[in-house]
Amino acid sequence: MPLKHIKRLFLGNKPRIPREEALKVFQRDQFKCQYCGLDGLASFENWMLLTIDHVHPYSRGGPRHSHNQVTACQPCNLIKGTHHFGSIEDARRFVMAKRSEWRDVYEKEYRPAAAKAAGAAAG
Ligand SMILES: [Zn+2]
Repeated sequence: MPLKHIKRLFLGNKPRIPREEALKVFQRDQFKCQYCGLDGLASFENWMLLTIDHVHPYSRGGPRHSHNQVTACQPCNLIKGTHHFGSIEDARRFVMAKRSEWRDVYEKEYRPAAAKAAGAAAG
């Protein structure tokens, strides 16, 4: 399989943003996710999560320009997806509400199951 097909498999049909362009957006946003506030400079692991999000989705005709781009961590970018919002504030409200819903599911279902599994593994 040619490399370009493998890349598309993992990266999808998102626009490729040159590193210099992404760096300008990260610097403007102080390397912080504009949805949840994750600090990309706090650790290497956080830095690895930083992406560029198009507030007005590129796939829906949003311009590929820095005024339409914000720094977003991968989870927030995934949650926002291709939803279109009138403003970054509306997008942030949506993303944070979804994160809150998913946190509740994690706290109620996954965390107890994980603790139980860890307890069983410890004997
Ligand atoms: Zn985030």
